[in-house]
Amino acid sequence: MHKTVIIGAGGVGNVVAHKCAQDAATFGEIWLASRTLEKCDAIAADIKAATGVTIQTAKLDADNVAEVVAFLKEVKPTLLLNIALPYQDLTLMDACLEAGVHYLDTANYEPQDTAKFEYKWQWAYQEKFKAAGLTAILGSGFDPGVTNAYCAYALKHYFEEIENVDILDANAGDHGLPFATNFNPEINLREITANGRYWENGEWKETKPLEIGLDYPFPDEHVGTKKIYLLYHEELESLAQNLPGLKRIRFWMTFSDNYIKHLTVLKNIGMTSIEPIDYEGKQIIPIQFLKAILPDPASLGPLTKGKTCIGCLITGKLKGTGEPATKFIYNVCDHEECYAEVKSQAISYTAGVPAMIGGRQMLSGDWLKPGVWNVEQLDPDGFMADCNEWGLPWQVIDAEPLQVG
Ligand code: NDP
Repeated sequence: MHKTVIIGAGGVGNVVAHKCAQDAATFGEIWLASRTLEKCDAIAADIKAATGVTIQTAKLDADNVAEVVAFLKEVKPTLLLNIALPYQDLTLMDACLEAGVHYLDTANYEPQDTAKFEYKWQWAYQEKFKAAGLTAILGSGFDPGVTNAYCAYALKHYFEEIENVDILDANAGDHGLPFATNFNPEINLREITANGRYWENGEWKETKPLEIGLDYPFPDEHVGTKKIYLLYHEELESLAQNLPGLKRIRFWMTFSDNYIKHLTVLKNIGMTSIEPIDYEGKQIIPIQFLKAILPDPASLGPLTKGKTCIGCLITGKLKGTGEPATKFIYNVCDHEECYAEVKSQAISYTAGVPAMIGGRQMLSGDWLKPGVWNVEQLDPDGFMADCNEWGLPWQVIDAEPLQVG
């Protein structure tokens, strides 16, 4: 029987733990370990009530490699699902190498003191994982994750070559609060307040934060037309490298005018800064203080109504005919349905279910390939079939390319 360790008992970790427990035949003995034991125990109690499955819990500091190694050597899991924060990626990869455990995460490494995320630190582990005969899957959430699988699937089944990709992420949900972020506020705000960036004709082009925005009519009537803004998002880095013949790739996310208004004020007054300041003789980091006063994303679950729609608008030459075509592959998720199933809103749900599905591909052996891989480098078929089976059904429609300006 397999054993699976999940690290991180936040909004996304809650979903991963629920979904793994729903498929305990695959994941075997399930452990949920995090910095705060009470959060693990509360999730374990919910899972017991919802599924009848008992999961084990533990208090663990994922920044401490020796502590994690000792824990892994005692539990002896097959697989570690890293659902803590991007800051813990390298320590957990080191611990997996030392303890002989396969690794999967949902977000690429980001040093805590620099608002910069990129894959180079984790890609540098390629030879170490190969030599150890272990697999590390990077970015198996929704975006990155499912979006990468959509591109791989489109390349395998629809297009002989992909020219342009626009990843579109809409949250048409409403929690009724004046301002809150849908996942970890620190990670979320660092991403949105950074410069925008996209890849075109072999080079990166930079924009000011949220400089380019336009209205886009999403195909789901409950989402409708929403304003999308160009952002830099981590899957652009790996997809630009791994999709042969690609000419351009961009990422877009919806924000309401109200969200932008609050964000602008917070940024203008310095509350989103990661530079430490002196407050009454104590050093504090404004964005961490802001996180402490903003609503906990996990608390949004019971409040949020509406839907998300995330997908890839892909233009390329069709297999067989070579004719140019554009297709939109996407998922629609309902916040209230997600909450009814696993007590989390759709943002955590759409990030957590793919981590469980990625884990299923690894435990089935399909994605076990020694080394460090992004999702588009692996066979998408089993993953895409599991998306339909485990809560993230997808559709493909013919569409028009995105017109900017
Ligand atoms: P939360 O802040 O809600 O949860 C993070 C959890 O990790 C918390 O329970 C926290 O513990 C725990 N944690 C943090 N540091 C440590 C540590 N040193 N040791 C042990 N546990 C630790 O974040 P989310 O659940 O919203 O996000 C989790 C991950 O998912 C992030 O990496 C995020 O970037 C990623 N994500 C990916 C998406 C995708 O589509 N690919 C989308 C959304 C999120 P405590 O509560 O005690 O502080």
